[in-house]
Amino acid sequence: MKIINANFVISSPAIDKCPEIELPEYAFIGRSNVGKSSLINMITNKVGLAKTSGTPGKTQLINHFEIQSISSKDTKQKWYLVDLPGYGYAKIAQSQRKVWQKMISNYLQKRKNLAHIFVLIDSRHKPQQIDLEFINQLGEWQLPFAIVFTKSDKEKQAVVAANVKAFMLKLKENWEELPGHFVTSSVKKTGMRQLLEAIGTINNELI
Ligand code: GDP
Repeated sequence: MKIINANFVISSPAIDKCPEIELPEYAFIGRSNVGKSSLINMITNKVGLAKTSGTPGKTQLINHFEIQSISSKDTKQKWYLVDLPGYGYAKIAQSQRKVWQKMISNYLQKRKNLAHIFVLIDSRHKPQQIDLEFINQLGEWQLPFAIVFTKSDKEKQAVVAANVKAFMLKLKENWEELPGHFVTSSVKKTGMRQLLEAIGTINNELI
């Protein structure tokens, strides 16, 4: 699958301000600085589509992009890519964190056309509590998601592999079935094809 067009649609402060639910949508979320904007810019092949690391607080919006792609069977597909505000800002006020939590839980639980969530995890680190908690919450809500381990070019391959394995083992403590996962680098463009194929496959079932 290849993305042939990507355009910003709208930034919304709440689910009721999001676009009509006419297209399947794929949400990307993770800790601040995890490499989400870089990944979105890279898969859409559009430098600057998603802004890289903004000021915390200014980025607390749900960002919709309309994507046109072409599948390996030459069928055109339209879908939304959603850039969700990140969690884990150290400096954010408690009140603002509550606003984030409410907006995100509303969006994730109520958005009817949400086809899949991609949770981004920094592959340089050992499993972090904040990421595990977020993923376990998705599980409780029974939402479909996959994990994207980012920045894999920044560490030795063996370290990345060990961190990925440790993370999946941690999830196994709570889960019978493990979610799918991807290992990516926005610098080296690793994992992009697999990520796009996964979206294409889900689109094929939905469109
Ligand atoms: P966001 O806050 O999650 O949107 O993260 P950004 O995309 O802004 O990335 C945060 C920092 O990590 C920036 O300095 C990026 O250049 C860097 N970065 C993001 N992805 C990669 C990657 O795959 N490899 C490397 N080496 N650096 C990355």
